[in-house]
Amino acid sequence: TGSGRYRGRFAPSPTGPLHDGSLVAALASWLDARAHGGQWLVRIEDVDGPRCPPGTGEFILSQLATLGLHPDETPVWQSQRGDRYQGALDSLIAAGHAYGCACTRAEIAAAYERSLGPRPKHGELVYPGTCRAGTGARTPRAWRYRVQGCIAWQDRRLGAQSQDLDADVGDFVLKRADGLWAYQLAVVVDDAEQGITDVVRGEDLADNTPRQIALQRALGVATPRYLHTPLVLAADGHKLSKQNGAAALDLADPLARLREAAVRLGLPAPAAHLGLAHTLAAAQQAWAARYGQGR
Ligand code: GLU
Repeated sequence: TGSGRYRGRFAPSPTGPLHDGSLVAALASWLDARAHGGQWLVRIEDVDGPRCPPGTGEFILSQLATLGLHPDETPVWQSQRGDRYQGALDSLIAAGHAYGCACTRAEIAAAYERSLGPRPKHGELVYPGTCRAGTGARTPRAWRYRVQGCIAWQDRRLGAQSQDLDADVGDFVLKRADGLWAYQLAVVVDDAEQGITDVVRGEDLADNTPRQIALQRALGVATPRYLHTPLVLAADGHKLSKQNGAAALDLADPLARLREAAVRLGLPAPAAHLGLAHTLAAAQQAWAARYGQGR
């Protein structure tokens, strides 16, 4: 039912042009929307301004157009939406779900070691909760979400998932000490406001989902369905990403890029003689057979 209601999105961070990995996420979200007879939106997640070279968002949109992936609505830019994020933060603070934090990185590291033992070498530290009961006389630098318990969810590809937010994540940042909005808050506010029913994105983002579901519940907005696509690994086995220098897509042959991306999604390669529209249609049919057209 309600095939007209499906709304999906591709939400690239314009820290660099699309590469082979981000094309897989873009194509998967497009295929799922089309297979459901739904709408496909593009949101440019340029919330971390200093890491987004000027013109990159526009360039990504032109890359998508070359691949025949056209959004159904005018793309939304997160850099324009700070007032929405502030409104959501204010309501979370008012409801006691968010609080100001005065800790510096060094203080968090020291408090972590005092209360939780030697800190891991990699990854974000679980916040030890120093400012949960208030910052005293100190001025808040950042704003954090007060996590509580375990979140369980069902991924359309990965199946049943769960995460203990207290133990594995801790109170996470919503607004950073440098004034920038955190991805977790921006993505939840925008997915809700844009009426997104289905999030289809790379598996590297799967462990963000419980934080986003917690925020959706605290803000009283709907939780979309989630499907996390297989990651594209570089030849050395690392995740392909802009951070480790993945090359921009070579769009001299967009059809070849689409066929490769389809194969990375576990779909049969569309025949090489097909043009753009028919290549996408073949991939869409294969996607529908695999991931279902129904709800
Ligand atoms: N902007 C995020 C990224 O490019 C993806 C956000 C999402 O799909 O939820 O990694």
